[in-house]
Amino acid sequence: MKRDVGIKGDILCILYILLEFVSDQHFFVNELQGPTVMKFGGTSVGDVAAFERVFHVVSMQIEKRPVVVVSAMTKVTDALLAAFELAKKGDFAEAIASLEPHFERHNAVVNQFIPEGSSHLFDAELQFARNELSDLLIRAARRSLPLSMLKDAIVSYGEQLSSRLLAEVLKAKGLNARQFDSRRLIMTDDEFGAAQPIVDETNEIVRLELAPSIAASEIPIMGGFIAGNRAGETTTLGRGGSDYSAAIVAAALGASELQIWTDVTGVMTCDPRISPGARTIPVLSYEEAAELAYFGAKVLHPKTIKPAVDNAIPVRVCNTFKPDEIGTMILAESGHAPNTIKSIASKKNITILRINSARMLGAYGFMSAVFQVFDRHRTVIDVISTSEVSVALTLDNSDNIDKLVEDLRRLGDVEVETGYAIICVVGDGLRASTGMAGKIFTAISDVHIELVSHGASGVNLTFVVKEDIAPEVIKKLHEEFFIPH
Ligand code: ADP
Ligand code: ASP
Ligand code: MG
Repeated sequence: MKRDVGIKGDILCILYILLEFVSDQHFFVNELQGPTVMKFGGTSVGDVAAFERVFHVVSMQIEKRPVVVVSAMTKVTDALLAAFELAKKGDFAEAIASLEPHFERHNAVVNQFIPEGSSHLFDAELQFARNELSDLLIRAARRSLPLSMLKDAIVSYGEQLSSRLLAEVLKAKGLNARQFDSRRLIMTDDEFGAAQPIVDETNEIVRLELAPSIAASEIPIMGGFIAGNRAGETTTLGRGGSDYSAAIVAAALGASELQIWTDVTGVMTCDPRISPGARTIPVLSYEEAAELAYFGAKVLHPKTIKPAVDNAIPVRVCNTFKPDEIGTMILAESGHAPNTIKSIASKKNITILRINSARMLGAYGFMSAVFQVFDRHRTVIDVISTSEVSVALTLDNSDNIDKLVEDLRRLGDVEVETGYAIICVVGDGLRASTGMAGKIFTAISDVHIELVSHGASGVNLTFVVKEDIAPEVIKKLHEEFFIPH
């Protein structure tokens, strides 16, 4: 018996020592945990100093096995889109010339970090991009391929170049980085400009390509936002889509964390550009974050949250300029705090459509007929408010709505009003709380509200006001709920 205890004790002791040893071996522990996907936005790779900051952030977390997803250098996507518009008007020489200062910004980073002897790789890449872009812009001027396809091919050069450049910089600074072409990793449908990933295929390719690289202690570097369809043509995931790319990769690899590195410390109580009093929210639930992102908190792409939720991957939003600040953690639950408003988001350029059909009074099928029209025109509705014979709703994109309105006129009178903003107040438990709507509207009792939606998701109260007063309304609400009186 005594001897038994002795043996058990020895075994326990050995197990304990083994455990200690294993927990010291970051590699082993992290092998079990999955890599960390780090996404760096445009401002995080805007210039020489920004690249230095990215190196610092990545190198501090090597033991977490980073996989890096990077946006185009700031302003490059806008410049590429502007060049495409110029080319469409026939000014392709001006279009290609307008990109030269941006190529120079890439060169400045090369000159700073990459020794002369080994800079030829990126020089060749840049020259290739120049030639390809000239060709694509000429095609846009001549309409020799579908414009939506050309637009994605052109705009993809932002992320193609930034990912190659970042990989070269990290390598030159001693990290084992390797660039991957996202157009061969993320497989999408053919919806140029807003392509949808084909999840199973993408997961398989991402695992097949990246897992061996991670296992070989490489740091995979890939461009966000850009992808490819089955025919091998370049597609993009929509503006701000690098967050989405990062989430897709995190889900495919079973990442232990998705880090979104940006130019502010986390998701804040409102856009810091609107109110300087905005503060970082330490913890948000997935649902709260999704509502905020969808209703305009640009800091996160709305779709980022979905792959993370489906795979229970925590998302952290951090500041490249202040890497030691913790930022915002986005988790399944944020900890229920009823009567708490977490944040206020807003979206501009909103159009209201009011459809009124007295002849449908008492008849069923009115709503269904309205929705069918939106379905046919593939138009997304944001906020909706209804009565028996009328419906008011908002759209965030009023380009090409003439045909939609024409079809809606078959159902009743239609009014179209532009120049509105949606304001969305978000907080877990908002629907269940008593008196919150009253408090919100009392704080802005002098404001004319066009539409209200409350209760659909449980975490938001959404209303629509004239666009020009939106910043004032947000400031007022922010002062009421976040600044101690
Ligand atoms: P990135 O280039 O890193 O993707 P974005 O410009 O897309 O960065 O998003 C960051 C910006 O989002 C911030 O500079 C900030 O002005 C804006 N923003 C809007 N609403 C919020 C919010 N609630 N919290 C934090 N940032 C916000
Ligand atoms: N570069 C793309 C954009 O500006 C994607 C991104 O940054 O997320 O929209
Ligand atoms: Mg962004």
